[in-house]
Amino acid sequence: MELLACPKCQNNKIVKSGIINARQRYLCKKCNYYFTVNKIGKKIDNYYVTKALQLYLEGLSYREIERIIGVSHVTVSNWVKEFRVKKPSHGDYHPTYRIYNHAELVEYLKNKEQLSGAGMIITELGDKFMLIKWERFKN
Ligand SMILES: [Zn+2]
Repeated sequence: MELLACPKCQNNKIVKSGIINARQRYLCKKCNYYFTVNKIGKKIDNYYVTKALQLYLEGLSYREIERIIGVSHVTVSNWVKEFRVKKPSHGDYHPTYRIYNHAELVEYLKNKEQLSGAGMIITELGDKFMLIKWERFKN
């Protein structure tokens, strides 16, 4: 990731601030200006394509992916077709997911019980983290 500067004041104190239309949005801490980075848009798009396909494989619906990634369910379904992703059936387990900010994530992982009996992946999602968990023997 290249170093970003605010387009308005050129300051480097930039933080991630959500995702708009599959693009990372940033906030300049100095002048409070929100912006997305269009120059590297293509790269970012591919990043979110991968993420969308991951979520699809985990059993999330197109509409759920739309809510999380911020691209329309039609686009997600087009990606699935384009990359010919086939999802195995998830007969005996349910992936569940949660969106946490960093403090919530740390709090969640403190409890060892949350880590037992289930696999999970944590993926960065804008300024938050998404935790996908498999609860194999629960309904
Ligand atoms: Zn600024």
